[in-house]
Amino acid sequence: MGRWVIISTDRAKRPTDFIRERVKLKGGFCPFCYGNESNTPSEILAFRRNPNGGPPRAKDAPGWTVRVVPNKFPALGIEGTLGRQAEGMFDKMNGIGAHEVIIETPDHNLSLGDMPEKQIEEVLWAFRDRVLDLRRDKRFKYILIFKNHGEAAGASLEHSHSQLIALPIVPIRVAEELQGAKQYYVYKERCVFCDIIRQELDAAVRVVSENEDFLTVAPYAPRFPFETWLLPKRHESAFENSSSQMFEGLARALKDLLVRAERVLDNPAYNLIIHSAPAQDAQLDHYHWHIEFMPKLTKTAGFEWGTGFYINPTPPEEAVRYLRAALDPVVNPIGG
Ligand SMILES: [Zn+2]
Ligand SMILES: [Zn+2]
Ligand SMILES: [Zn+2]
Repeated sequence: MGRWVIISTDRAKRPTDFIRERVKLKGGFCPFCYGNESNTPSEILAFRRNPNGGPPRAKDAPGWTVRVVPNKFPALGIEGTLGRQAEGMFDKMNGIGAHEVIIETPDHNLSLGDMPEKQIEEVLWAFRDRVLDLRRDKRFKYILIFKNHGEAAGASLEHSHSQLIALPIVPIRVAEELQGAKQYYVYKERCVFCDIIRQELDAAVRVVSENEDFLTVAPYAPRFPFETWLLPKRHESAFENSSSQMFEGLARALKDLLVRAERVLDNPAYNLIIHSAPAQDAQLDHYHWHIEFMPKLTKTAGFEWGTGFYINPTPPEEAVRYLRAALDPVVNPIGG
């Protein structure tokens, strides 16, 4: 969609060619662990189970399965590249915004990919609940949910968490994607993502896996090696409008992808983002929400920053062969 990517096949890289550190836990004091709830701002949302029908558990105390808190340092604490963009935005917009942290598990040692599907599903429900709540504030035009896993991907705390930022504007990358999708729709009268799903299922060379509700594919022109997208098979422009069955399917698809990536790339740092329609828009025919998964295997260099082109050393079809083989030994990666 209007973006330039150079796949440099003459330097095609295999998973083992990327020099980087696998994500390791260092330990130390952690404000996201059970018992340390008073070290975060007071919770906005928490899922708690009350065993044996006992009295409801206290707020900001242990017993939760997923917990959402405001980011302690909303402007300065934002992690990663997005953070630097968003910081400037917060300055200009007089601080209209929300920045929240979704603590995905009480278990310090579990990564999102290690969690049972049920737990991943709970995290997705927490995303949805927060978006539905925040979008009632008409000043919020866009709600971005993203995850940084590992220091190399910008995570400052190792305990598994995601972040949500509500913004008074639609960020540029999303605006460009919306614009591209709109142009396609005007020209072809079809959703470009629905077309991608049909074409990829037909061609079958960039499909990592699929279940009843979701398709996991490498995009035709990935910016980064092993970049992968998760697409709902049925057209829907907003993540938060998905049916409950979809969340179950998404939890399964997400776990499947993360396990594959962990095996092939040896627990890589990664970024996950949810691209959904702007918060105040009604159902859009031309836009289709999705998740983008980008393992952090290369460094963005001067050429990329200077031009907006991306150089990707791994063709998507090759990345897919590895990801498929990770859980399906019948498929032979790159002819042995
Ligand atoms: Zn912890
Ligand atoms: Zn669609
Ligand atoms: Zn996108």
